[in-house]
Amino acid sequence: MGQLSCPKCSGTAKGGRSCLIWLLVILLFPIGLALLLLPPKYRCSKCGHTFKA
Ligand SMILES: [Zn+2]
Repeated sequence: MGQLSCPKCSGTAKGGRSCLIWLLVILLFPIGLALLLLPPKYRCSKCGHTFKA
């Protein structure tokens, strides 16, 4: 989990990998480790804009 500033409104965007991703990583181990190569997503708490880090 991390924090970034929103590219649209420069508000605080929180995000990272969801619990679902971590669950799949564990269930599909070791193939699931490939999911960690996907970039984490962030969502702005101010305007709701979603973006990749
Ligand atoms: Zn925003």
